[in-house]
Order: sequence, then C-alpha cells, then structure tokens
Amino acid sequence: MTPLVAIFVFGFGTVIGSFLNAVLWRIRTGEGFVYGRSYCPCCRHTLAAKDLIPVFSYLLLRGRCRYCSKGIHPSYLAVELAMGALFVAFAMPVVSAGLIDGKSLASMLLHWYFAAVLMLIFVYDLRYMLIPRSVTVWAMAVAAAGGLLLGARPLTLAVGFAVGGGVFWLQYAISKGKWIGGGDIQLGALMGLMLGWPLILVALFIAYVSGALFGGVLLASKKTSWQSQIPFGTFLTAATVVTLLWGQPILTWYLGLTI
Ligand SMILES: [Zn+2]
Repeated sequence: MTPLVAIFVFGFGTVIGSFLNAVLWRIRTGEGFVYGRSYCPCCRHTLAAKDLIPVFSYLLLRGRCRYCSKGIHPSYLAVELAMGALFVAFAMPVVSAGLIDGKSLASMLLHWYFAAVLMLIFVYDLRYMLIPRSVTVWAMAVAAAGGLLLGARPLTLAVGFAVGGGVFWLQYAISKGKWIGGGDIQLGALMGLMLGWPLILVALFIAYVSGALFGGVLLASKKTSWQSQIPFGTFLTAATVVTLLWGQPILTWYLGLTI
C-alpha cells in the first residue's frame, strides 16, 4: 500500500469514526441516527462544518466546544484515530496482495462495517455498561448475509453462531442473569457470524484471557473489588477485531504448540 493510499484510507476511517461518535450519542438519547444536524451535547449549539472535521477540529479547538468551551472527552478523538487505523489494517491485505476485484473489495467493505459495529459496541459498553440491542440485531443480519454472499459455508456460520451465542446463553441460564447480561448472548452470536467456526474459539479465548489478566491487575492494584463490574463486551469486541485481523495465524500457531 502506498503512503498516499494509506493516508486516504486513514482519513476515510476518521470520517466514519466521527460519524460513530454522533451515532453513539444518538443511540444513548434515543434520537434517530440518520436525520438531524450534530450539536454540542452541553450547550446544544448546532455544529458547523468546520467543527466536524475529524481529528483536526478536535486538535484546533484543543478538545473544547467552540461555543461553550466545555471540554470534549478525549475518547471522541480516540474513536476517530482508532477507526482510521482499523480501516488501514483491514484494507492492507486487499491492497498489498494486488488482488483488487469485486469480491475482495466487497470483503473489505464488510470488514470495515464489522470494525464500525465493534467499535460502537466497545465504546458503548465501556461508557454505559450496556450493549445496544438495535446495533447487534442489525449487524447479525448483515454478517450472515454478507458472509454467505462472499462464499462462507452456511454450516461454518451456523456453528459459529450457536457456539458464540450458546457460551453466553449457558452462563446466563446458570447464573439467572447475574454474571452476564442478555446483550452478551447477542454479542456472542454476532461474533460467531462474523468469525465463523473455529475462529470464534480464538476470539473467546483471547477475550477471557485478557479479561482475566485485566481483572487480576485491577485486583492487585486494589482499584476494584470482586463486586465491581468490568464490561465484558469491551473485551469481546476487542478480541473479535484481533481475530478478524490475525485469527488464522494465531490458530495455526496455537495448534503448532499443542501438537
Ligand atoms: Zn457546547
């Protein structure tokens, strides 16, 4: 990938990141997320085009609203930058292989969509300890249809769906909803449709190991007690992105260790 193409793709990713920031807010407030102009959540002033340039607006305004100078949370900037990086990462295999045809472009678009959905759930769960159902249900339909159109075997997706959803459904049933929320079941099923079998196992493994490590660090630093809740959807979505990007090499490496 040439630097110019990379910069263009990164820029496009930050635009989508900026859109996701608006969508996150609109899901929270229950507003429709297609219509209406963006506004400052604090002073409700409508934002002008110059306030909506990804990354640059934030840096030029030094993270403050132009109209009420209330601080804008750094996570807005982080979402834009992370989406830029993810768009480049998912475009890399397509562009550098030189195999730019209809199918590889469609696959890249589908992965960009996955990246956006996973980022949305990641941030929403981190902020509000909740997985937005409206997002997961739609994404499940797109992941299933997209996967099948791009030639995934129906059984692969079905087993991924059953394993991903089943793992959490079981925990939900055993604990009567105390360990995890219903949103985790849907997220698990969505992960299964995005990754298929057996990559769903890789994502679950990464999520549990990283979640346990993070929990251990928090516990050791006495920043939390056993009772405090760490949003698991955050680990699940991050693990899904890692698996979408490097799942096959990780699986090959792991199987090489055990044989
Ligand atoms: Zn404002």
